[in-house]
Amino acid sequence: TRDETPDSVLITPVAPIANHTHGGRAKCLQRLVRLDLPVPRTVALSFQAVHGIAQGEMPDMAAIVEAFPADALLCVRPSSQDPDWGGPGAILNIGMNDARYVDLCDSLGRDGAAALYLRFVQSYAVHVARLDPDVFDDVEDGGPDALSEVLHAYEAETDEPFPQDPAEQLAAVLRSMARAWEGTSARLLRQAKGAPADAGLGLVVQEMVPGFGQGECGSGVLQLVNTKTGQPQITGRYLSQSQGRDALGAGAEALYLERDPRGPSLEESAPEAFADLKSHARLMRQRLREEMQVEFVIESGAVHLLDGVRVTRSAQAAVRIAVALAEDGIIACQEAVMRVDARILTELLHRQVAPGATRDVIGSGIAASPGAATGRLVFTAAEAQASAARGEPCILVRRETSPEDVRGMHAAAAVLTERGGITSHAAVIGRGLGLPCIVGASNLKFHTRRKQLVAGDGRLFTRGDILTIDGSSGQVLAGEPDMMEAAEDGAFQTLLTWADAVRDIDIRANADTPEDAMTARKFNAQGIGLCRTEHMFFDPGRLTVMREMIFAETSDGRAAVLARLLPIQREDFQALFRIMEGLPVCIRLFDPPLHEFLPTSTTGQRELSEALGIPVSDVTRRVEEMEEYNPMLGLRGVRLGVTVPEIYDMQARAIFEATLDASKEGAPVVPEIMIPLVSAAREVELVKARIDAVALAVKAERGEDFTYRLGVMVETPRAALRAGEISPHTSFLSFGTNDLTQMTYGLSRDDAGRFMSAYVNQGVFPEDPFHVLDTDGVGELLKLGVQRGRAENPDITLSICGEHGGNPESIAFCREAGFDYVSCSPFRVPVARLAAAQLAI
Ligand code: PEP
Ligand code: MG
Repeated sequence: TRDETPDSVLITPVAPIANHTHGGRAKCLQRLVRLDLPVPRTVALSFQAVHGIAQGEMPDMAAIVEAFPADALLCVRPSSQDPDWGGPGAILNIGMNDARYVDLCDSLGRDGAAALYLRFVQSYAVHVARLDPDVFDDVEDGGPDALSEVLHAYEAETDEPFPQDPAEQLAAVLRSMARAWEGTSARLLRQAKGAPADAGLGLVVQEMVPGFGQGECGSGVLQLVNTKTGQPQITGRYLSQSQGRDALGAGAEALYLERDPRGPSLEESAPEAFADLKSHARLMRQRLREEMQVEFVIESGAVHLLDGVRVTRSAQAAVRIAVALAEDGIIACQEAVMRVDARILTELLHRQVAPGATRDVIGSGIAASPGAATGRLVFTAAEAQASAARGEPCILVRRETSPEDVRGMHAAAAVLTERGGITSHAAVIGRGLGLPCIVGASNLKFHTRRKQLVAGDGRLFTRGDILTIDGSSGQVLAGEPDMMEAAEDGAFQTLLTWADAVRDIDIRANADTPEDAMTARKFNAQGIGLCRTEHMFFDPGRLTVMREMIFAETSDGRAAVLARLLPIQREDFQALFRIMEGLPVCIRLFDPPLHEFLPTSTTGQRELSEALGIPVSDVTRRVEEMEEYNPMLGLRGVRLGVTVPEIYDMQARAIFEATLDASKEGAPVVPEIMIPLVSAAREVELVKARIDAVALAVKAERGEDFTYRLGVMVETPRAALRAGEISPHTSFLSFGTNDLTQMTYGLSRDDAGRFMSAYVNQGVFPEDPFHVLDTDGVGELLKLGVQRGRAENPDITLSICGEHGGNPESIAFCREAGFDYVSCSPFRVPVARLAAAQLAI
């Protein structure tokens, strides 16, 4: 049941060749032939033919051989559908034998002829006859007798003379390359790169241009851009009297291409060939619509192009290349948007460990916040702040972090925790601050009291030792490797502007502080989708007031204490409104359990008793009373709003007063107030009644009007299920997918890190559901919530504000489900903008 594809076909402008039948290299060579570029004769073998060869079914060899001049030397190269899937290495100089060697000694000289033969015998021996490469260890490199030594060694190992018949050599090469592709390890390797199980291999058989001989002969590679920066720059190397990719390994012997102060260049030694090459490469860029690396050979001054491959590129170069192609009118702006993998943008926003740097890995964990930073080890938030005060970068190491550590985290260059998963406290705050962070590093031993960290191999690190946290890979490194600076440049901005033009879902940022808000603006977020207010109460000045409020006996007493926080909180909000200049700001009312604010240590409790002027025993009793078995499912969120309503009253008043003040200074503000952890409509009714009352009071006192939007955070399964009942009371529903994932799975977001990798490795979960939205389970709840919520309130605004908001796959889900916006950490906004645009194209 063979289809119409011929086994082998000479590449001409009209030959039937396609990526999916003959592979990318064959197709690219056909494009070069169509551009009338000097490509040596090439025959392409289809996937089907190569598969047949691997099974022992040889194609019509005569038809292949007849396509070339009788005495041509040939080479065979792999041509897989996607070049990234790899393939067996090229084999050059097929057809070399004793007789051809004698002939070529006349035209190429003895050294040239010997070099060709030697290379062929060696690669044939290793790749076709499968001899151990060390068989040739004793051969003197390039010495006058090397060729006969190699032929001898071959014969000694195989008990056969080296095959002399070119057709037989070619058949054996084709067979070995076809089989190599079907081997288990090659298959696993390419599947790991995303190739399907039945990915095919094509082969191209090409006439050799030897690269040896009289006049200027040699080989090299050229590209028009710098691989690292993507800036225009002719780069590559050329080596006289060479072939294949010899020039790249040749060190100082190789020539630069363009005139270069560092050494002699092809431009100087063969100006015409260089000019031709340049114009060929420019034509390729123009017509292949991509930056290509050209593999070329010069034969007596004439240029031949053997191959073109997509230039490998850093993240920065990928952006720069796509934008430049569009700016030059070669591709459309939308295509440039499609060409950049959204995820790589994060690499441009943060310092990174330089590619190729030596990594002394001492342990690893979950890569919770990207970027890399080096600093001295510290084990408490206070030490981190002291270190920052001395201007000394530090790595904050904790078992896990809590709100008390936030100031220390601000002061640190990076954070490392023993526990936690992708949505644990350290991870969320780290991403918000753009701070490299690794959590759940369970293969390191943390002795935080003794201020020691013990690596898997037993190495001991103590306070003051220098470590590097690579939050992009999750690796903890000893010392300081070479780093690469962040590189968001003009091209980055341009690409995102084009992305915004097609995007059809809004992107907001989760921002708690003025700094976060400024980052959000810098990355063009369309508003704040979640301002978590609790951190505002951990400031030392405010913490005491909070504690006093917790100890107050009556509602009035609590309100009186909270009144002291009101002006401070008003300023917090005013600062955010000012920075956001009229863009929406969604403020979540107080969410955490109150006992997080009480001291756990005896010293702390003693200090508190002194500060409040009450007996220590009272403090201890209160702390014990407030203890919960399962605080994340306890008295927090709206449950506090219902039972200790004075906190929400104060926050609402602060928001409204700040609204009036900020609206006077600039654009009118319409604040959004969000109620966390709702599970019943009645909770919303109760809180709404109080907030409406505060609004009326503020309006009456100030004699001024304002509007605001009240919304509900859907983060319990029940809220999603009962969204139809809740939505009539609210202007918006924002799905908090961190808690919703935690509660849907019954999986603690703070503890799951310990076993998550085992779960993912054994395929229990396809991915960490705190990282990539579980579209089946949690997703079903989201869909129900959207559908039921919208049915009862068609004008409702729908969004997600969990960490999933910055993940491209999760954004795809949200867009499909009809969300109006996603909100994510400020540093993930660029990724979200690009990923969302790609979905709309
Ligand atoms: C959530 O639960 O998804 C959320 C955004 O809130 P937090 O992470 O603060 O619990
Ligand atoms: Mg939550």
